[in-house]
Amino acid sequence: MAWFKKTKKPIAAKTKEKASRVPEGLWVKCPDCAQAIYNKDLATNLNVCPKCAHHFRIGAAERLRTLFDGEWTEYDKDLMSTDPLSFTDTKPYKARLKASIAATGLKDAVITASGAIDGIQTIREIRKIHACRDLPIIAVTAKAMKGDREKCMEAGAWDYLSKPVDTELMIGVLQAWLGH
Ligand SMILES: [Zn+2]
Repeated sequence: MAWFKKTKKPIAAKTKEKASRVPEGLWVKCPDCAQAIYNKDLATNLNVCPKCAHHFRIGAAERLRTLFDGEWTEYDKDLMSTDPLSFTDTKPYKARLKASIAATGLKDAVITASGAIDGIQTIREIRKIHACRDLPIIAVTAKAMKGDREKCMEAGAWDYLSKPVDTELMIGVLQAWLGH
């Protein structure tokens, strides 16, 4: 299944890839399949080419917006790199930090956040994708409500586990399904 195989080189190794950042304008051409896509359609499709599933580069905040159902809580917002070695190569590290903060408006390369995702709806959406019909999905919940198991199974989960986690049961369930 192509989902689990790295069929492409990592993005970081290809500077050319940067050109695929979602550009301004009415239409955008997919760098992979050359399909012209209406920009609004690309946004509706969460910046994934509807023809070939090429993932356009997006920012971290945009990624969180597409992932969570609503707002999210960000942690360590003011966390910043320091320069304990007073490192300098062609430029002082301090200057590099300053320049990248100015260019991105972000203090760090990582955003740490938590937010809500409707798991049942997520399972349904995953199952709608043709290539994900056989993707192993085991629902795990920390606050089990009556009928949750049935709802998860109906949505397309293969199995259901709730807290407190019974390690032996969890391993048994995983072993049973992973060999499936
Ligand atoms: Zn494409």
